[in-house]
Amino acid sequence: MASANPKTIYMDNNATSRVAPEVVEAMMPYLTESYGNPSSMHTFGGQVGEAVKTARKKVADLLGADPEEITFTSCGTESDSTAILSALRTFPEKRHVITTRVEHPAVKNLCDSLQTVTGHKYKVTRLKVDSEGMLDMAEYEAALTDDTAIVSVMWANNETGVIFPVEEMAAMAKQRGILFHTDAVQAVGKIDIDLAQLDIDFLSLSGHKLHAPKGIGVLYIKRGTLFVPFLTGGHQESGRRGGTENVASIVGLGRACELAGEKMAEENGRVKQLRDKLEEGLLAKVPKSMLNGHKTARLPNTANISFEFVEGEAILLHMNQHRICASSGSACTSGSLEPSHVLRAMGVPFTAAHGSIRFSLSVYNTEEEVDFVIEKMPAIIASLRKMSPFWKG
Ligand code: PLP
Repeated sequence: MASANPKTIYMDNNATSRVAPEVVEAMMPYLTESYGNPSSMHTFGGQVGEAVKTARKKVADLLGADPEEITFTSCGTESDSTAILSALRTFPEKRHVITTRVEHPAVKNLCDSLQTVTGHKYKVTRLKVDSEGMLDMAEYEAALTDDTAIVSVMWANNETGVIFPVEEMAAMAKQRGILFHTDAVQAVGKIDIDLAQLDIDFLSLSGHKLHAPKGIGVLYIKRGTLFVPFLTGGHQESGRRGGTENVASIVGLGRACELAGEKMAEENGRVKQLRDKLEEGLLAKVPKSMLNGHKTARLPNTANISFEFVEGEAILLHMNQHRICASSGSACTSGSLEPSHVLRAMGVPFTAAHGSIRFSLSVYNTEEEVDFVIEKMPAIIASLRKMSPFWKG
């Protein structure tokens, strides 16, 4: 497949991805002539309702779920909040939540607010990770108590791509009668998921990470799992989520899931080869560079690499001059350059955490692009190191 834009080398797909042309094509009728409300009694609206139904089936098929288990939301963040708050409302007597130290802010900040906003009514256990970003299952087992309302553990990390053993963790929660939610926003479309076989109660996904538009998400709710809606209103989504459906985006997400299902094995194999080439090339050519995250238990598209003694933001600016798009593991928060909470939780040394860059590829990347990035990066890092007071090279 050709590059998204011949002038831009886009390797920031964990931030957001290109809407696939096939998805745009599927959406167009619902942005133009087929504008009916799927809840209307007339045929004009009813046809739109049929399109939503078809899309729901396509999403369900990708996940190994039943269509009735799929609820459309506005984004991954809404799905995450809905799942966790539903569990707390279902079991008001339970006051304990288990999560990890490396969750996306959609879960991390909600869990933080459960403590701060409620005057510490809830106890939150944040599981540690080791230097490769992996969890300690003994710590997890010990954390499960009769007071635990829900476990929320991401399937794959957005910064490092590290994959957690959510299948096993969900089974352990189930044995104790505890609900299990997974934020699978980065996993869906990149690895095989078959929910029919698993004890996962809730799963969140987001359209814009798998070549559908921004502003559409899904919450999978396992049949039989007790559920309290977050957005109450109309009877849409079988009363599970009020609000007139975002029809065009739902149709687009259905098409994106269909494409992912058809091409996943083949395309992700190719993406992994490109990612591996990029990773090996950079680690070989740039001295004092290192991979963050487990080498194999990782998404096929993600490489998080630290270039020691340089600032991630400075690297990104130089990459930008070559029209290469990626992300850095540090964020400019309130004037201070703090490395990401994920890398800090992994114990990545300060000098390396500051210079981390996340490359996240997609099916639209090409080998020429990878070669170009491998060619440009050593000079970018060398020029920045010349200015670094810490570099003794
Ligand atoms: N969870 C993870 C792991 C993510 O990577 C993201 C987005 O970056 C989200 C949740 C939030 O998804 P959305 O942007 O659809 O709210």
